[in-house]
Amino acid sequence: MRRKLAAGNWKMNGIGADLAEFEALARAHPRPDCEILICPPASLLHRAAEAASDTPIAVGGQDCHSEAKGAHTGDISAAMLRDAGASHVILGHSERRADHDERSEDVRAKARAAISEGLTAIICLGESLAEREAANTLDIIAGQMSSSIPDMVTGENLVIAYEPVWAIGTGKVPTLEQIGEVHDSIRAMLEARFGQDIGGAVRLLYGGSVKPSNADEIFAVSNVDGALVGGASLKAADFSGIICALENS
Ligand code: PEP
Repeated sequence: MRRKLAAGNWKMNGIGADLAEFEALARAHPRPDCEILICPPASLLHRAAEAASDTPIAVGGQDCHSEAKGAHTGDISAAMLRDAGASHVILGHSERRADHDERSEDVRAKARAAISEGLTAIICLGESLAEREAANTLDIIAGQMSSSIPDMVTGENLVIAYEPVWAIGTGKVPTLEQIGEVHDSIRAMLEARFGQDIGGAVRLLYGGSVKPSNADEIFAVSNVDGALVGGASLKAADFSGIICALENS
């Protein structure tokens, strides 16, 4: 059985006062029937980890460098994330692929660094609207998977987030059939490459405009083990609605 995961990506949002959302979320879910993860900006990570201690909420980073240390101004290493209290790190988010020119090979190097440091890597994959309209989605996902995922993975240290680029922050969501087709194909590719034990244990998250109002139907899709949530993770009340839907799925 794969443990369900509700992961929030705060992106470049949040200052100290917003840590009150952790308290509200922990109050609403003292014993959740799923894992809850929030990835705040790096500036908040340490305080977020303190706010989350003695609660079921885990905290994660939004990116890490592939090297352990060195002359990389503005970057953060996997060891630094861990030292600040992170257990997970989001890698290869489409905003980083677009804003920072990250290629799948870079994502794989970062994933190696993260996993070597004991973090769980949440590797994001997803097609653009043009790729979807050209019926290339499954090929794009297959290419991103083979280039982004290192060989060293297990069912615990890897999570995949399928996030169609055109669905992130837009309010647009693929049909349930489209989500199911991609998730089933990711599962098949994982099992083909890593065997059934590992490939069957990796959690697959859907991401892209998930809200309390559409979470139920998305979580009913096969091979959807949770969600990576942007906008609707910023407020405990919204994220809590998604967590409840996941617990009941
Ligand atoms: C994301 O940033 O990973 C995301 C899915 O954003 P949103 O939920 O706002 O679409």
